[in-house]
Amino acid sequence: MKTCEYCGKEIDYNHAFCDDECEQNTFNYYKNRKRWQGLFSGGNILGIISCLIGLVVGVISKNVKLGLLITGSGILVIGILYLVLPYYGLDEQIKKKGIISTTKTVRMLGAVGLLTGLVCVICGIIVPFK
Ligand SMILES: [Zn+2]
Repeated sequence: MKTCEYCGKEIDYNHAFCDDECEQNTFNYYKNRKRWQGLFSGGNILGIISCLIGLVVGVISKNVKLGLLITGSGILVIGILYLVLPYYGLDEQIKKKGIISTTKTVRMLGAVGLLTGLVCVICGIIVPFK
């Protein structure tokens, strides 16, 4: 059975989407994906670099507090990116379940990242490491 790329509902083989709204929404989704690609990639790289720097600082210089702060900020940035720009990462799921459900999953992962980052940063601030 063929499914609508946007909402994931089953449709017959003569159609690509269930209605004009789904077609328009799909168009907007890919338009947004293209528009924010640069910002997303840049932010992602920045976040990953922060995570690595934080790890290096925490492990090599044994400054756990600073390490947690830097790594936590990195995870926080990546989480926010996925939450605000949920257009990337799960193309396989789009084919199977549609854009709506995929966007939800990506946002959820973003929220988890955001919370994890927040916990790291807060620990870095309040836990009195030596
Ligand atoms: Zn649809």
